[in-house]
Amino acid sequence: MRTIIISIFFLLTLTQTFGQTKEPILKISALTDNFYIYTTYNTYEGNKIPANGMYVVTNEGVILFDTPWDTTQFQPLLDSIKLKHNKDVKICIATHWHSDRTEGLEYYKKQGIKTYTTKQTDELSKKNNKKRAEYLIEKDTVFNIGQYTFETYYPGQGHSEDNIVIWFDNEKILYGGCLIKGAEAENLGFLGDGNVLEYETTLKNVHKKYPTPKYIVVSHHDWKNINSLNHSIKMAKKLKRKNYRLQGFGKMGAEVLN
Ligand SMILES: [Zn+2]
Repeated sequence: MRTIIISIFFLLTLTQTFGQTKEPILKISALTDNFYIYTTYNTYEGNKIPANGMYVVTNEGVILFDTPWDTTQFQPLLDSIKLKHNKDVKICIATHWHSDRTEGLEYYKKQGIKTYTTKQTDELSKKNNKKRAEYLIEKDTVFNIGQYTFETYYPGQGHSEDNIVIWFDNEKILYGGCLIKGAEAENLGFLGDGNVLEYETTLKNVHKKYPTPKYIVVSHHDWKNINSLNHSIKMAKKLKRKNYRLQGFGKMGAEVLN
């Protein structure tokens, strides 16, 4: 009897030690047919922050939007995509110059993936010593890849000077990157490179251009609540008022990262 009790106790201890769900370092979730969100994590000022990107499986290969933030996950992401869909990533577009979007650009270029940013992003990447893409987009551009069509849109300064969004018109998918924050977000996040006075107008430009998205994908929060854009506009409005009161001019940077 004693042995049994000890065994059970031992088993329970084992389950407690090894049965804990370890948080994944690379997470892939389905958004809708052929559209997937991938998430990697990094530590910023002591907090573990998730960063979402997106990929789309087409009959001409996979389109990747942004790169993993976690530098150990560049190849695991490619491997996971290959394993899951038996397809290679053909093209990768980063939506602004910060590391959580661009860190994997040079690695992916070496793997034969066509990497893109806007010319404006490239200039900022160069200036800030970030990884750069091989191909540059001069202005808002429509891409046709396999059965999918999407466009890039530069709505103005907000989270950064160069942030763009991606729009899939047939599927009504808006990929907002770091410009749009989640519906539950408490603030607009890191604004050290942003434009606190223009942010509201920039978001309103996105809303005007794409008034009826079915999905809005955001970088650092849950993407399931479609109210993210409206909520971000409200926060940007408050931010603008506050900064007008404080300074009344120009660019300034000091909101805390959430
Ligand atoms: Zn970001």
